[in-house]
Amino acid sequence: MKFRAIKGTKDILPSESHHWQWVEATVRRTMHAYGYREIRTPIFEQTALFARSIGELTDIVSKEMYTFLDRSNESITLRPEGTAATLRAYIQHSLETQSSLTKLYYIGPMFRQERPQAGRLRQFHQFGAEAIGSSSPQLDVEMMLLPLHIYRDLGIQQFNLTINSVGCEKCRPTYKERLRSELMRVYDKLSPDSQRRVETNPLRVLDSKDENDRELTASMPLIGDYLCAQCSSHFNAVCELLEMSKVPYTIDYRLVRGLDYYTKTAFEITSTALGSQDALAGGGRYDLLVEELGGKPAPGVGFAAGIERLLLVLSRTNALHIHPPVPDLYIVALDEEARTVAFQKAIELRARGIAVELDYQGRSIKAQMREANKQGARYVLVLGSNELVSGKGMVKEMVSGKEYEVFLEQLELPKGLE
Ligand code: AMP
Repeated sequence: MKFRAIKGTKDILPSESHHWQWVEATVRRTMHAYGYREIRTPIFEQTALFARSIGELTDIVSKEMYTFLDRSNESITLRPEGTAATLRAYIQHSLETQSSLTKLYYIGPMFRQERPQAGRLRQFHQFGAEAIGSSSPQLDVEMMLLPLHIYRDLGIQQFNLTINSVGCEKCRPTYKERLRSELMRVYDKLSPDSQRRVETNPLRVLDSKDENDRELTASMPLIGDYLCAQCSSHFNAVCELLEMSKVPYTIDYRLVRGLDYYTKTAFEITSTALGSQDALAGGGRYDLLVEELGGKPAPGVGFAAGIERLLLVLSRTNALHIHPPVPDLYIVALDEEARTVAFQKAIELRARGIAVELDYQGRSIKAQMREANKQGARYVLVLGSNELVSGKGMVKEMVSGKEYEVFLEQLELPKGLE
């Protein structure tokens, strides 16, 4: 029987894992610069946590979650996103008692049973951040600057930032009703997905990708005209801060994201290098969610960004220049005795933090030299009976061809290796 990875999941092979490490290191460095600390939550949670936070009627909860009963008959779900679990942990561990503003980030796999295609997987990876405890529009903008900073550091030049305000519990209901009644007039002509949403989440009908839906809703009222004074001034402040930060952005009053918990700001970052699945990152404010999940009321804002899509953009724009790690030194051994010494020297050097590789398969000198070359070793040391007798050997720098004499007893390597 042949086993294969499950549809929509992918192995990250050694030929690409260094790209992932580079992205992750950039994420960590940037998060640190903005004052965010890492949180690692379990990969599965009680199903109700996601249903309550993301929204029962959203696509994610109604048709994409990996949900199962465990052996104690408890309903468990593999996390489809990072915010719910992060907030659950924030509440459970009373993180608000440690500081009045909690800034957290995460990196890890998420799970959604979507139809796999380029840039859409069933197990995919996100990095994201959450700031809980302040309603300052500066934090909304920080959530946009963070991923953009990371993209720039990684070498992505082209992206579009789109923002909107989805209002709050005061102004959104009035707008929702108005929009719903307008949508009812064209109900029969809407796509089945949009028809379903007229009742459950009319704002998402405006976000439909269906051309006909777009035409039908082209002149319908937009949320921008219905925002209450507070939401409106918050939105203006966000726009001003973006201008101050010299970040180009577009306002799209039709932008609604696929999660129900947003209040006020919602945003998305897209890349034209991606095709139909063009979203690189998204986020927004969720001022009611902490309370909704049973915590003391606290405003919050966050974002999540897909790593597979980011790597796809980098590879499509030829911006993946990172090389795989190479050994500092390859020890070529000519006979059995030399192999033992080579092994011993490798242990000593590795203990000093030097990456050493050697042959474990009894191969010829030629094959060992070929291997050292193939692996891109920076230096090669050849050990044979002459070297063992004299206690000295030659270390060759592969790029320049220069050779250095070294004592085997106290192996001093060229500067820069240690
Ligand atoms: P969301 O949690 O839906 O706001 O998504 C945030 C980001 O995660 C998106 O902009 C994508 O980059 C990424 N993403 C979401 N779903 C998938 C998926 N099924 N496969 C790959 N990446 C995804």
